[in-house]
Amino acid sequence: MSRPSLHDLENHQDFIQRHIGPTVKQQQLMAEALGYSSLDALIDDTVPAAIRSQQAMKLPQAQTEQAVIARLRKIADQNQVFKSYIGTGYHATYTPSVIQRNVLENPGWYTAYTPYQPEISQGRLEALLTFQQMILDLSGMELANASMLDEGTAAAEAMTLMQRVNKKNRSQTFLVAADCHPQTIAVVKTRAEALDIDVVVGDPNELIGNTDAFGALLQYPNTYGQVDDISPLIDKAHNAQTLVGVAADIMALLLLKSPGELGADVVVGNTQRFGVPMGFGGPHAAYFATRDAYKRSTPGRIIGVSIDRRGNQSLRMAMQTREQHIRREKATSNICTAQALLAIMAAFYAMYHGPEGLRRIAERIQRLTSLLQRMLAKANISPENTHWFDTLTYDLGEAREAVVQRALDKGCNLRLIGATGVGISLDETTSAEDIETLVEIFTGQQVTSPASSIDESITEFDGIPNGLLREIDYLQHPLFNDYHSETEMLRYMRRLEDKDIALNRAMIPLGSCTMKLNATTEMLAITWPEFSALHPFAPPEQTKGYQQLLQELEHMLRECTGYDAISMQPNAGSQGEYAGLLAIRRYHESRGDLQRNICLIPSSAHGTNPASAALAGMKVVIVECDSKGNIDMADLRAKAERHTQDLSCIMVTYPSTHGVFEESIIELCEVVHEHGGQVYVDGANLNAMVGLAAPGKFGADVSHLNLHKTFCIPHGGGGPGMGPIGVKSHLQPFLPTNPVSPVPGLDANNDVVSSAPYGSTSILPISWAYIALMGQEGLSHASKVAILNANYIAQRLQEHYPILYTGTTGNVAHECIVDIRPLKEASGISEEDIAKRLVDFGFHAPTMSFPVPGTLMVEPTESESLAELDRFCDALITIRQEIQAVQDGKLDAKDNPLTNAPHTLADVTADEWPHSYSREQAAYPVSQLKQSKYWPPVNRVDNVYGDRNLYCACPAIDSYREPELT
Ligand SMILES: *Cc1c(COP(=O)(O)O)cnc(C)c1O
Repeated sequence: MSRPSLHDLENHQDFIQRHIGPTVKQQQLMAEALGYSSLDALIDDTVPAAIRSQQAMKLPQAQTEQAVIARLRKIADQNQVFKSYIGTGYHATYTPSVIQRNVLENPGWYTAYTPYQPEISQGRLEALLTFQQMILDLSGMELANASMLDEGTAAAEAMTLMQRVNKKNRSQTFLVAADCHPQTIAVVKTRAEALDIDVVVGDPNELIGNTDAFGALLQYPNTYGQVDDISPLIDKAHNAQTLVGVAADIMALLLLKSPGELGADVVVGNTQRFGVPMGFGGPHAAYFATRDAYKRSTPGRIIGVSIDRRGNQSLRMAMQTREQHIRREKATSNICTAQALLAIMAAFYAMYHGPEGLRRIAERIQRLTSLLQRMLAKANISPENTHWFDTLTYDLGEAREAVVQRALDKGCNLRLIGATGVGISLDETTSAEDIETLVEIFTGQQVTSPASSIDESITEFDGIPNGLLREIDYLQHPLFNDYHSETEMLRYMRRLEDKDIALNRAMIPLGSCTMKLNATTEMLAITWPEFSALHPFAPPEQTKGYQQLLQELEHMLRECTGYDAISMQPNAGSQGEYAGLLAIRRYHESRGDLQRNICLIPSSAHGTNPASAALAGMKVVIVECDSKGNIDMADLRAKAERHTQDLSCIMVTYPSTHGVFEESIIELCEVVHEHGGQVYVDGANLNAMVGLAAPGKFGADVSHLNLHKTFCIPHGGGGPGMGPIGVKSHLQPFLPTNPVSPVPGLDANNDVVSSAPYGSTSILPISWAYIALMGQEGLSHASKVAILNANYIAQRLQEHYPILYTGTTGNVAHECIVDIRPLKEASGISEEDIAKRLVDFGFHAPTMSFPVPGTLMVEPTESESLAELDRFCDALITIRQEIQAVQDGKLDAKDNPLTNAPHTLADVTADEWPHSYSREQAAYPVSQLKQSKYWPPVNRVDNVYGDRNLYCACPAIDSYREPELT
């Protein structure tokens, strides 16, 4: 053995092998098992030569975990955490430590997927249902969803909902109160323009009732802090057949009458200040609540109560038929990934404090605001607003500059309004000493008597209009009242976590979702205050670290994609699609091609594609696929030809949604370009390509990248995510900006797709860290092993199940589709039976019936080890044998372990066992399970029952209680 060099001993590439499952030796053996001499030979035979990148990505070498943490620390240190009084929808908050450590920093919560498989998701479903209950109580509405991406997009969705449901007023006009948050107005305007809705922004007292409009948006309290009784305005609107959406501050609603009580039709807002850090813009969960009558028009995911096979209560996502994956361009919205993890945190925050605790927090904020108002009034400084909850606005005239400078000197950020105004918003973290500091900032003089000394002189709810106070009529459900001790809270969260399958239990082989490792080192920085505690509109001098991180990440992503520019604004894949299509739209407009509005979409596309095209004001024309699942090029040519005058673009997923590298992609780009169209490549499948091929180099003009798939941001049980877009240089001028904190290098009048300039900025260190840890070599290697693992699975399974589509050389890309239709024909066992039976083996099911009905799509990712791949294949092969037994009549066609799956602990320990197969076969179909077994908490959930008997609030507590000891 030769002596290793010091360099060898240092091994800077250590992390690459920690991220990638199979060892180098196993990779070689797996490649050989597939008939190739090496991994590279497999890749050469799988990825078409014509699209292979000629040059390596220009990225730094892989670094150790310690080095990456040290680099991030340096970057973070360039951010300055000032006390933020900026408000405008973002407020400092205390994340209860028990929630930070056990939810936000706990892979049992953050690595879970969207709860499409309810049996293994009861824990997060319960937490999300609690979120909905909290929103219902505070908004005073009848129906709430389980989160939106941010307040701006929630307001835009409120607008489109009101347009859909307002059958009495078909006007195309939407009124927006000028005193809504500026970023909300901007997002609404962008959304409206593409849909031909005329937005009129102005004084609601003048507009409402006098301007014919289908809907209106109010802010409560308004962006300047004014608290008004909006019920007369709402009545006036209703008399004019105008529906009203209210954007409401969740903390203020603890003291103020709910918008529902005041007559609102839709209520939206952000739950950020319920324990979720500002994060320089996100992620946090926005909320959306409306009337029960509008439930089928409501965007996003709604959790509902149903029953399982045995009639026990169980939870599931309700009414999925409204969503994009079913309704496509007619969907209520394109939103897919939302903000589940953050919604769960906000719900736990409410449970932890309870109604009295929350009320106290809100009262204290309001009291401090009154103190500040009083102390400044004594100094003859009077606010613009006559009533307030937590925000005061002052016109300081010439004094502003000095005041703002004094604030900065004391480490405080005020909101700048117009040329001479300032706003101050207080929050949970504000203290009486802070009030004194603020007074000193305003007066330039030392405070002599402490703020607390004038507390006595303030009546209880100074600043809140008569009649607008509410009683504690909220959060009376025991869930909000039973878990106030940390011990109880800790155990409750653990109980929920244990009900679910996340990546810390088993592989989650969801095709198209890329459930790869979310390494702990990648996650560390997101809770550092230098990243988490910044306000999105903090002055640029204080955000230098973020600017560096953004620049570096943009460079990294440009290298990974071959594009010329990146926009970080879209905070989910769906929003990236929308932003990319808007850029295309603007590009055509800039060239005078106003008529170009046809968007070609292959029939196999993900549902968000047509839904986003509709939102961007485009008309969808479907392109057919051939029998091999490839885009039918003849059909494409014909349709491009037919629409040569009005072709806007094509949206195509690459590698295809069928998991195949189509050879025709370059030709496809050429055909579309010849007819004046642009090429949008849905980058959700980039995990098969990083370092091997780049969409920006093989002909595409724009793509979104799902950082929560390829670039290691965890899925959080249905969000957060990030969907930045890469564009070629000709589209760069049309990228989105922000009205308060403009994106450098862009026209200030550009579109605005999210509330914050860089979306959910505080999770970007995760992707940055991943790329830094892997380096160019590690990233390319990861793509190769993703392809290797998928082909390995395809090969192991193909003797037992047909594999649906392969490329010309017989290989799949990074995922494979297992066809269940022939088996179902022969045995009556469906893809759903298999998915549920996999739960008995401790696995999350693969993607079901997308993109082909009656199939399962498996994506192992590079992170799964050979042992786990084999365990999964063994499970599917054992299941195949069970199906064979049904086919052969050895197992009953109706009473068998597949149709009865999943089996609960209660099933197999019951005194009665009425089945024709054994308990052991039910629970331990492979003996390995005896060492470690996941028990689903419910039997198969009845989807139809849940939709027929729609119930989307927390049921009576009795149904939650564990059986009493007798
Ligand atoms: C995941 C996915 C999307 C949507 O991304 P979200 O972040 O969930 O909005 C779009 N297209 C494809 C092919 C996907 O797999």
